[in-house]
Amino acid sequence: MEPRAPSEFVVQGIAASAGIAYGPAFLYLQNELEVPRYTVEPGKLAAEIARFDQALVTTRQQISRIQAQVKQNLSEEEALIFDAHQMVLEDQALIGETLRELEATGLNIETCFNTVAQRYIAAFAEIDDEYLRERAADIKDVTKRLLHVLLGQTAANLTGLVEQRIIVAHDISPSEAAGIDRSSALGIVTDIGSRTSHAVIVARSMKIPAVVGARDLTTKVQSGDRLIVDGYEGVVIVHPTEATLLRYGKIEAEKKSFESRLLAANELPAETLDGVRVTLRANIEKPDEVALVRHYRGEGVGLYRTEFLFLNSPTVPTEEEQYAAYRAIVEGLAPAPVTIRTLDLGGDKPLPGDLQLGGPEANPFLGFRAIRMCLEHPELFKDQLRAILRASAHGRVELMYPMISGAEELDRANALLDEARAELRARGQAFDEKLRTGAMIEIPSAALVADLLAPKCDFFSLGTNDLIQYLLAIDRGNHRIAHLYDPSHPAVLRVLKLVIDAAQRHRIKVGLCGEMAGDPVYAPLLLGLGVDELSMTPPLLPAVKFLIRNTKFSDAKKLAAEALAQTDPRQTYALIEAFYRARVRAE
Ligand code: PEP
Ligand code: MG
Repeated sequence: MEPRAPSEFVVQGIAASAGIAYGPAFLYLQNELEVPRYTVEPGKLAAEIARFDQALVTTRQQISRIQAQVKQNLSEEEALIFDAHQMVLEDQALIGETLRELEATGLNIETCFNTVAQRYIAAFAEIDDEYLRERAADIKDVTKRLLHVLLGQTAANLTGLVEQRIIVAHDISPSEAAGIDRSSALGIVTDIGSRTSHAVIVARSMKIPAVVGARDLTTKVQSGDRLIVDGYEGVVIVHPTEATLLRYGKIEAEKKSFESRLLAANELPAETLDGVRVTLRANIEKPDEVALVRHYRGEGVGLYRTEFLFLNSPTVPTEEEQYAAYRAIVEGLAPAPVTIRTLDLGGDKPLPGDLQLGGPEANPFLGFRAIRMCLEHPELFKDQLRAILRASAHGRVELMYPMISGAEELDRANALLDEARAELRARGQAFDEKLRTGAMIEIPSAALVADLLAPKCDFFSLGTNDLIQYLLAIDRGNHRIAHLYDPSHPAVLRVLKLVIDAAQRHRIKVGLCGEMAGDPVYAPLLLGLGVDELSMTPPLLPAVKFLIRNTKFSDAKKLAAEALAQTDPRQTYALIEAFYRARVRAE
């Protein structure tokens, strides 16, 4: 009898990154490994040693492959970390001790190696020397990989993904996401997460279709199962039938044809039907996204999240390293401006183990994050400020502080910026004396004192991802409450209005760089409220520009007034969606 094809089933999650992907799953399980423990028959000890030798060779080959990939996708420097990993595998002390453990206990080689490695990790981790502590992280990483090889399992590493697969994971950290190779990740599905989690933002910037909040999908699929990821509707279809594939082929073709029309219209300026010009800029995480910004005609960068430079580096990047990265972006886009945001580490972007500045926290989103961390580490902060200032000599740079909560914090940040300027003058190094500085408005307290902040900066940038999180008390990464995360909540609209009005009274520009900026449904509302600039993941620019070009500013203002008068967020959304649909249909 023919084996029956597994039946199709559908899982509804949250649409996180547009597009449709079809292909085999790669189940990415980051769970702790279970190492089996058993006694080896005395006659089989030699075979156990041979198994160990073979695993060492295979692991070395794996690491070399990953190293070559990282070199190609990221940089030579980032690939260097794997040299340290190779050294662990060649460490005669570690290997010798493992073999002695085998002789002494007669236990299986996985147990022996793990026992010795854990001893090393514990010893290194305790040493009060950053370099040696780093070795503990290397040994940990390599141990996991070697054990995976010994146990015949696929090592959990997204950088090493070489075949074209759909990544299915419980969760993906921002640094793991940053290590994903665009050409091998067809799609991403996670059990948890929300539209504004940083891993998703990275997926969107790479144009990888993604669905998050797929509940327990990792327990329902296996590596190799065929999946459709519908990043438009937030749906995952496991074992799709021929009929479903056909339907999705058609949807994809229709969306593609709409997208190509959008791209053609994207060559025109972002101007409303009644001649109001809007600035559309791009959000980027990595210097190599400059090409993407140009491709999608971003008018420069409205948000460069510099923390990704730190997340992808084994050591804290020096002033020189940062300067080189910032300068490359600024020169790559000149004369268009680049808004460089100072470090926003913490929250869901903790520093990798060895760079830890704060230590674990019960509520990281309410904790030692962004400007708070920088103000307590002025040397680290000033390295970055000098690097940004120096990059400003090579094009148009704007500097922006994240997570400002009040005027005093802004004063302290600006005082350190003045110190950095003075240090560069003393060194005789050039920078733009007229560098514009801005504050992100993403904490409700900052919004409420926007009138006090406005005289101290040149622009505001509304960070709605965090602003909504803090205003509505909804963890932006928690899928259980993701449905409550609502940009059309009356409180959100009122706060946006408050900030925009304060900016206008003080004659400073106000932009918006949260994910809300990249949703074309919200574009007319934001215009009508008075936002001057929208900044978003580059691939979203054409759709937003399309809406702007099909909207009259006078209508957008009326829409904003009507939306502000609503009391029920569902009605507000219905109102702005109807406005959007009328313009898309009219095309
Ligand atoms: C925001 O909070 O809206 C924002 C743009 O910053 P991030 O997503 O990096 O926190
Ligand atoms: Mg933010």
